[in-house]
Amino acid sequence: MLSIKRPFFFTFGIRQKILLILVTMLAIALTVSGWLAIQQEKKNLLTEINQRGNDFSQFMAKSLAYSVIGYDYHTIQLLLDEITKTKDVSYARVVNSKGNAMAESGNKNQPSNESLVVFTEDIMLANENIGVLTLEMDTTSITERINLQQYTTLKREAMIILIIAIVEFFALSYAIIRPVNIISKSLSDNVDEKGIIRGELPVISNDEFGMLATQFNLLRSQLNHANEQLQTKIEFADQELHKTNEHLRQQSAELKQINDELKRLSFTDGLTGLFNRRHFEELMKTEVEMSLRHGDANSLIIIDIDFFKNVNDTYGHDTGDIILRDISATMKSQIRATDILCRVGGEEFVILCKRAAPEDALEIAEKLRETVEQQEHILENNTIKITISAGVASIPDPEKIITTTEFYKYADTALYFSKNNGRNRVTHYNTIRNETNHNDA
Ligand code: GH3
Ligand code: MG
Ligand code: MG
Repeated sequence: MLSIKRPFFFTFGIRQKILLILVTMLAIALTVSGWLAIQQEKKNLLTEINQRGNDFSQFMAKSLAYSVIGYDYHTIQLLLDEITKTKDVSYARVVNSKGNAMAESGNKNQPSNESLVVFTEDIMLANENIGVLTLEMDTTSITERINLQQYTTLKREAMIILIIAIVEFFALSYAIIRPVNIISKSLSDNVDEKGIIRGELPVISNDEFGMLATQFNLLRSQLNHANEQLQTKIEFADQELHKTNEHLRQQSAELKQINDELKRLSFTDGLTGLFNRRHFEELMKTEVEMSLRHGDANSLIIIDIDFFKNVNDTYGHDTGDIILRDISATMKSQIRATDILCRVGGEEFVILCKRAAPEDALEIAEKLRETVEQQEHILENNTIKITISAGVASIPDPEKIITTTEFYKYADTALYFSKNNGRNRVTHYNTIRNETNHNDA
């Protein structure tokens, strides 16, 4: 399945996304509105304090005028003590027109105190300046009161916005997520295992979701139609493929048969079904070479039909073929399963007798000669009798046969001897060796 790695935000569902957006908006709205409110409140507070302070100091300057002109220190002190008892005025002082202090009350603030506001008011009597009143007001408690009020306001705003966010959240859920869920559920319920969409999507509203469902239903019928056509084509292609496969399988089986037959033909002789010269040469190469190397006993018999030319000339070539087949079958039936009989020429055969000593090979050759001699071939009212001559050679050889060519040559020499000495006989090379060597010399 294809998986796309998405940023964290995109792994949220729609509900979580809406909630996240609403909460973020709320936080921003609260921060901005709170900051603006504080700025406004600060401005209002400053104006308010200034106004009240001015009014109060003017009123006090007027109240003190007679006491200052009358040097009534005691009354001035009482008045100053009285006003510094209030929370707002922290320090008060009166000096006369000469600049001498007449009375002071409260604690003088440090000029660095940010919440300090200082009012200086001339004390006038009949348009004459008779002294100066200084009042220091500490705004700390007022600021605290206003901050508390702001905090309460912010809390109320937060509650209202939270309630709006929750209501909006449910409203959006109902308006967006519900139709999406209905469409999604309907899709998963209605699609079968073949990918065919069975039922239609419900059109639950007239908005974009309704349009989406309508469009989808239209698309669905087109898709289903295309899908059905595709299925039919696939089934057809499947059947065709199956047929082609079956055909190929048959062809492959036929080819294997032909191949096996060709293989068989490549090492057998068409007329007699015996192994041919090619196969014999291969056997000589492996079997005899191994025996020569290890000194194992092994004998070779070469057989040639006597006067076969006469048979052809007298009874015809076809009769000659039948006789060739008969004699082949007879010889095949007489030898051991381990002996290998091959047709190496027209009417010439060899038998490779494995593990056969000279006397064993002579015995086999003699038995074959006798059997063939006794066999009668009755063809087209003719009774034909055939004889064969054979030459045998064996390894290990007293005078060391060392190559396959020599091995074959010695058997052939023995055959030649049989032919020259009356035919219908078997000769082992060992018995004529001296004579042959003598003749060769
Ligand atoms: P011998 O071997 O005793 O000296 O006499 P032969 O007449 O058999 O002489 P040779 O071996 O030289 O002649 C072989 C004959 O075998 C020649 C040919 O007419 C015949 N021949 C060879 N191959 C076939 C064959 O496939 N079918 C038939 N019908 N005859 C064949
Ligand atoms: Mg011959
Ligand atoms: Mg012959």
